[in-house]
Amino acid sequence: MATRKQELLARRKRALGPAYHLFYDDPVYVVRGEGCWLYDETGRKYLDAYNNVPHVGHCHPHVVNAIADQARRLNTNTRYLHEHLADYVERLAATLPAPLSVVYLVCSGSEANELALRLARAHTRREQVIVVDTAYHGNTNALIDLSPYKFNGPGGRGKPPHVHVVPTPDVYRGGFTIHDVGEAARHAGGVAAFFCESALSCAGQVILPPGYLREAFDAVRAAGGVCIADEVQTGFGRAGSHFWMFETQGVVPDIVTLGKPIGNGHPLGAVITTPAIARSFDNGMEYFNTFGGNPVSCAVGLAVLDVIRDEGLQENARVTGEYLLDGLRDLARRHPLIGDVRGQGLFVGIELVHNRETKEPADREASEIVERMKDAGILLSTDGPHHNVIKIKPPLVFCKPDADLLLRVLDAYARLYG
Ligand code: PMP
Repeated sequence: MATRKQELLARRKRALGPAYHLFYDDPVYVVRGEGCWLYDETGRKYLDAYNNVPHVGHCHPHVVNAIADQARRLNTNTRYLHEHLADYVERLAATLPAPLSVVYLVCSGSEANELALRLARAHTRREQVIVVDTAYHGNTNALIDLSPYKFNGPGGRGKPPHVHVVPTPDVYRGGFTIHDVGEAARHAGGVAAFFCESALSCAGQVILPPGYLREAFDAVRAAGGVCIADEVQTGFGRAGSHFWMFETQGVVPDIVTLGKPIGNGHPLGAVITTPAIARSFDNGMEYFNTFGGNPVSCAVGLAVLDVIRDEGLQENARVTGEYLLDGLRDLARRHPLIGDVRGQGLFVGIELVHNRETKEPADREASEIVERMKDAGILLSTDGPHHNVIKIKPPLVFCKPDADLLLRVLDAYARLYG
């Protein structure tokens, strides 16, 4: 007789689009979450070391209560006055440096990047965009066109003419220069925007080299374009040393896009820009978003900011991130399979290679280790153009005992590969 899990799998396969994927060879059927932990249908618990969306912990009571309280009272849209909306846009804007002070609220990272593209085009009256190789910026038509991760991947239709791709600034593998964006901006002949994550997630948890964004932003602005920081993966204290990852580069973008952790799992996103760009966009066409900025979403956004502050989660990202990186560097000294360990706060990557000289990617080993770690109760995933980078980006409540557990199990499995 089919188990409940097999039944779910079959029902899902029958009715859900076949382009959806599941994690792991033997998928996990999760029924409950708390802090950094997920529980399956048998009550077995898994350490979630991968999901950066439940930023302040799965099902945090302060966030859940905020949703429930506001949903019980009222949910409408931004065409009515509401205190939560005013409170939230003020508090969100206050986390960003001047002149980033004007907020738009949306429902996802993709919607945020879509709107950022519209803002940039309205401001510059141009169409062309520079992106970094292996980037992913969202699931809409316009954003698949800006995502080499997708348009050069399976099913992709290649690079569209209005898009310029610069090499991934991957310090470990090289093959780039700090002037690449400047070169692209000069040759583009009318660039509207440079889209860049402040640390690169799909490219394999790549930390930008010092000075990269400063040089790039100067060149893009000199060419008349605007600089868009995609902080969908990296924002809200994950960097540890700073609240926003772009701050580690000493720059101020013209537009910042937010998603994932902003609502701790509730569908929320935001775009923050300068008054000048906002004025260019205010050309007579109303901006309306049915769900973006509704009172329930604003209550959630406020609650997430409360928890980050009250529980000192940025500082935890700094301290636990350093501890984890130290532990991983120690593993790298003992396991030749680990070619590189890199990270900033709780945004960490481990690149596996067959040979440290040739850096031949150990992609099979990376996915095997991720499967084995799952069987041992630790959830991770792989990414990067060679699929050989193990990603660690846990909820920010991830603490030292969690790091110890991860390091101990990873040590045991890395040992199997000599
Ligand atoms: N930007 C980046 C950097 C992302 O990683 C993602 C999602 N993986 C998005 C944008 C799109 O966000 P969403 O899935 O919420 O639309």
